[in-house]
Parts: sequence; structure tokens; C-alpha cells
Amino acid sequence: MQLLKERILKDGVVKPGNVLKVDSFLNHQMDIPLINEIGKEFRCRFADAPITKILTIEASGIGIACITAQYFQVPVVFAKKAQSVNLDGEMYTTKVESFTHKRVYDVILSKKYLSPEDHVLIIDDFLANGCALMGLIDIVKKSGATLEGAGIVIEKGFQQGGKTIRDMGVRLESLAIIDSMTDTSLTFR
Ligand code: 5GP
Repeated sequence: MQLLKERILKDGVVKPGNVLKVDSFLNHQMDIPLINEIGKEFRCRFADAPITKILTIEASGIGIACITAQYFQVPVVFAKKAQSVNLDGEMYTTKVESFTHKRVYDVILSKKYLSPEDHVLIIDDFLANGCALMGLIDIVKKSGATLEGAGIVIEKGFQQGGKTIRDMGVRLESLAIIDSMTDTSLTFR
């Protein structure tokens, strides 16, 4: 998606540890006209899929998922990062290792909001090693819902998440795939 790539080149900042900061338009301050275009693009790419629900993970996925959902006219449900898991059987639970915070979270989703009749599109801001996405895919599997695919805004193609997820046979659409990045240069696939 050309508009997004241009914006990353203009305003993205590469930090040590292979972290790309996009706080001025995606992760902290949010550029709504740009995210509208992102939502439209996801709608185009998954136009043939019978999506009934969009699934994301808190926090940065939520805003993007909500704007995208307006183009699909379906609800958004977001997995929550929990301090402790109450194993009362009412929640789907999984574990996710955070790329940016280097710790493992329990992630939970109420069983009320995902069921075997659902056709799910997962939306997230970044794909790096794939832990967040694998956690969400695990939740979809546990629910018995059909996974239609995953839409990612920025994939860091030099990390292994994209390959792992595609090798699993998941339909993965990333709007910008970064091939390499240093503090002075950034290239796209
Ligand atoms: P993964 O689980 O694929 O390793 O990492 C994905 C998650 O980590 C995303 O949900 C995102 O919040 C965060 N993340 C990974 N890489 C980056 C990055 O370069 N920049 C930012 N801002 N977040 C990242």
C-alpha cells in the first residue's frame, strides 16, 4: 500500500532492537484518514471472505480494527492481556510473548464473543516473530470458529513471523512488508 509505505519512510523512526516507532500516526497519535485507507484496503483484500467478526489484541490493534470493521459492518472483539487467569471455563486463554516488552502475557477472550459459527479476520498493527498472531490463531482454534485470514499493517519481513504463519496455510495480507531497516535506511519488499 503505497500511501502507507510513504508515511513509514517520512515519519517512522528505527530504534535499537529492530523496533520501528510509528507513534506519530499509528501507535500513539492516530492519523484517522490514513487508518481509513488501511481499513478500505483490508476490505478490498478480503472482499471474498464471509467475515462475521474481527479479532485483535489490546492495545494498539483496537483502533485499527474498529475503523476496519466499519468497512465490513461486523463487531470487533479484542483479546485482553491479563495479570492472572481465572480458570473458570468462561474464557479462552493462551500465552503471548511480547516482542516490545520481552515478557509473557496470559491473553484471554470471553467464550461469549467467539463461537463455531464465526468467520474471523484477525487484524494487528505489526508482525515480527509472530507470537501475538499465533496467540490469536490459537484462540480462534479453541473457539471452533473459521479463520478467514489475518491483516497486518506493517510486517517486518526480516523476522520469521510472516514465513511461519504463511507456512501454516493462513491467508496473511500485510500492507507494508519491510525487508531491511537501519537508522538511516529502510527498504520494502
Ligand atoms: P510479534 O508477536 O509478531 O513478535 O510482535 C507483534 C507485536 O509486537 C505487535 O502487536 C506490536 O504491538 C509489537 N511490535 C513488534 N515489532 C514492533 C515494532 O517494530 N514496532 C512497534 N511499534 N511494535 C512492534
